[in-house]
Amino acid sequence: MPYQRIVLAVDLTDESIEVANKAAAMCKAFEGQLTIIHVIESLNYAYGGDVPIDVSDIQEQLQTTATKHMAALVDQLDIPVESTIVTQGGIESEIHRVAEELRADLIIVGSHGRHGLALLLGSTANGVLHGAPCDVLAVRVKSSH
Ligand code: AMP
Repeated sequence: MPYQRIVLAVDLTDESIEVANKAAAMCKAFEGQLTIIHVIESLNYAYGGDVPIDVSDIQEQLQTTATKHMAALVDQLDIPVESTIVTQGGIESEIHRVAEELRADLIIVGSHGRHGLALLLGSTANGVLHGAPCDVLAVRVKSSH
């Protein structure tokens, strides 16, 4: 089977279920294992390590909220999920790191086609594609924008 270790990246918006259902269907078809990752873009990372206030409480709250949303997403899927990861850092670099660590053979992301390579890939999907350690599948999501 071509894809055995699939990493699904979700932003935990309402659209995530659409992408997750596609990922679940692929996992089923390939009899693969699904890991779902969400990255909380750390404020330190976003501002180049130069945040003048202590943001650790906020980051902790974000982590708690994201973990809850992740559990709710997993509940809606009709396949067992191998593992879920809620981590902090840069979105693309964390997705690449986890994919490498798990020796994933496929990363699945959602794509709006509303910016970046305009009609093809959303900016995050585009970023994940560059430097990915394995194949990347961009699932087109309907954008309300
Ligand atoms: P965007 O380009 O931000 O609209 O996001 C497109 C896709 O990138 C989403 O559907 C997810 O697959 C992935 N993505 C965006 N933000 C995150 C995040 N914080 N953690 C994990 N994946 C993300």
